[in-house]
Amino acid sequence: MLDTLRRLIQEVNVARNLEQALTIIVQRIKQIIEADVCSVYLADSNNQQYVLMATDGLQPEAVGQVRLGAGEGLVGVVAQRAEPLNLDDAPSHPRYRYFPISGEEHFHAFLGVPIIHHRDVVGVLVVQRHAKTHFDEDNETLLITMAAQLAGAIAHAEVSGDLAGLDNKPDSGDSSRALLGQPGAPGIAIGKICVMYPFADIRAIPNRKVENVTTEIINFNAAINAVKKDMKDLASRLHDKLPTEERALFDVYSLMLDSESFTGVTRSRIEAGNWAPGALRETIEEHEQVFNQMEDAYLRERVEDIRDLGRRVLMYLQQNKQESREFPPRTVLVGEEITASMLAEVPSQNLCGVISVRGSSTSHVAILARALGIPAVMGATDLPVGRIDGAEVIADGYSGRVHIKPPEGVRKEYERLVDEETALSEELLALKDLPSETQDGLHVALYVNTGLMSDLTPTRQSGAEGIGLYRTEFPFMVRQRFPGEAEQHEIYHQVLEAFAPRPVVLRTLDVGGDKALPYFPIQEDNPFLGWRGIRITLDHPEIFLVQIRAMMRASVGLNNLNILLPMISDVSELHDALALIHQAYGELLEDGVDVVMPKVGVMIEVPSAVYQAGSLSRRVDFLSIGTNDLTQYLLAVDRNNARVAELYDSLHPAVIRAMLQVVESARVHNKPVSVCGEMAGDPAAAILLVGMGIHSLSMNVSSLARVKWVIRNMTQERAMEILSEVLMMEDVHSIRNYLNNTLELAGMGGLVRAGK
Ligand code: PEP
Ligand code: MG
Repeated sequence: MLDTLRRLIQEVNVARNLEQALTIIVQRIKQIIEADVCSVYLADSNNQQYVLMATDGLQPEAVGQVRLGAGEGLVGVVAQRAEPLNLDDAPSHPRYRYFPISGEEHFHAFLGVPIIHHRDVVGVLVVQRHAKTHFDEDNETLLITMAAQLAGAIAHAEVSGDLAGLDNKPDSGDSSRALLGQPGAPGIAIGKICVMYPFADIRAIPNRKVENVTTEIINFNAAINAVKKDMKDLASRLHDKLPTEERALFDVYSLMLDSESFTGVTRSRIEAGNWAPGALRETIEEHEQVFNQMEDAYLRERVEDIRDLGRRVLMYLQQNKQESREFPPRTVLVGEEITASMLAEVPSQNLCGVISVRGSSTSHVAILARALGIPAVMGATDLPVGRIDGAEVIADGYSGRVHIKPPEGVRKEYERLVDEETALSEELLALKDLPSETQDGLHVALYVNTGLMSDLTPTRQSGAEGIGLYRTEFPFMVRQRFPGEAEQHEIYHQVLEAFAPRPVVLRTLDVGGDKALPYFPIQEDNPFLGWRGIRITLDHPEIFLVQIRAMMRASVGLNNLNILLPMISDVSELHDALALIHQAYGELLEDGVDVVMPKVGVMIEVPSAVYQAGSLSRRVDFLSIGTNDLTQYLLAVDRNNARVAELYDSLHPAVIRAMLQVVESARVHNKPVSVCGEMAGDPAAAILLVGMGIHSLSMNVSSLARVKWVIRNMTQERAMEILSEVLMMEDVHSIRNYLNNTLELAGMGGLVRAGK
């Protein structure tokens, strides 16, 4: 059964639209289960009804006509209870409803299972038989598995408009099919979708209208010829090493490259208006469908050869395309996984938003977007990436909503919000030169997180008191190799000089986890629990020492350097890191460099460090809480996983209590504590941090004015009262609601949207 299911799922996954997917499902399931009917009903949320969308066995005229409310008829019962219903004799059930148009009176056995997406019943999958029999457990599990698979496809279709007209009314234009992701970076982007895809990943290629068919065909022919030549070269190179049968594979490849079914069909698709990579993807998907139907496992596996061929052709096509990529004004970058380097590819004046299927608000690409002031939506799992290139879009970085091809009404509403936001920013701008002080005179130092050279100017002009976190890995990520001491010295010196005499905290290299260096690949099953941050640099003292020396030399004459160590989970790691820092310091003194020993701090971002905060703070000058990782590790929620992003919230009572413990442990040793995770830039959370006695916050430059506004409208005493209230709450939602209400009541409702 597993094999059957696997093949069916593959077929459904490559269906080009919902209608095709549903037809495949009803036909194949009816066959597999040996039922007399298989039907799919989908929710029409406008009318709170379930509509028959596809059937094999009922009268085709019934499609679109049979509609049931929740709880109405057997389909309605399945939807209402959100569980399967398996009956030998459906007509004798008290909730049975008869629709003459369906021709259903002949059927007795009924099995219906709900199709559930993100906890909502979006449809019902039904099989029926004439006889009064019971569908067995295998049938039931197959149907449940299929329904789970269908849920994603339906959500995709809904967003891309496949379900338009479900209510049989013309599209009135005032209801928009919004799709919900996670807020990634605040702000609203109204622009045009530009789909980004990884090099040579055929599945990620979107359809795109071709501008010049002739040129496209010429490029495609050139790519085919280039692959043919590669195949020939490969075959002759392996001639002596491979037996004859294996060598025959290359002949098959060459034949395929000359065939009508591969090359010819793709060419026709280009002539019909799709660009070559999109046409190629469609051809490969078509072959996948055919191969997946094959009974013979060996033949089925041959689909991999076609994919391989496709990847090779694509590589040649992309060699031409990538360089000539043009980004329209108001580009909204969209992709399965938008990376930092994709962001860097778009000229900054053209980039207006980011939407990524994978990732969450604490993914590094979201952090980067915030640093650049670009609205971002992360974890938009239902986004039909392949079908929306070039479409108009609104990305709401506050709520995580995405509207593709928004109707006029929605667009107008968002334009109004953008105007409001501009007005608020102007108001906030006026705070720039005012002190960050509570109304009872407590100074809360506000610093900026960065890692980019390009945002040093806005950072300097933001009124920040310095840099609280400079992520040194970003300059490492954009190079082809580890930067040398002189190169690093140059970068660090620019940063230190730009802010002197204000303090700058340079964090030592924190790669691993979701930050990979292209020239230092690390393959691990659990990268966030693996070789990351200080664990790597302690294993490679040569990398660590070069970095420390570059930092210290860069600070000569400025003396505003602070060094921060990431991912410390054990006192012995701190001990070893301090020994290396002192070694570098000694070496520089020996070389006659007039260097001053910088302050050294530890990031508290791993649960073990929370419990050892006392032992750690005794050995260093300051602590800085990294709430992004601390939240991830305390709550066991991957910060990049959209599926569990709902569970990721730094206002969780456990995170708040852990932070309080850190502050209390550091207080015993008289060491300052700052917060440099994203929580510091959340206006609602900032109140709690001040209440805890944290007087130094480091955040993205775009959050600074908002946090300053909260601080200037608070007293320390009030912040402490709010903290004590929050400490009595047991769940994150109550805390978030309470803090938002507090902001509203204090006349700062405008900031509520800026939080998570
Ligand atoms: C953190 O973990 O909170 C932090 C500031 O570091 P990063 O986001 O770079 O992991
Ligand atoms: Mg971290």
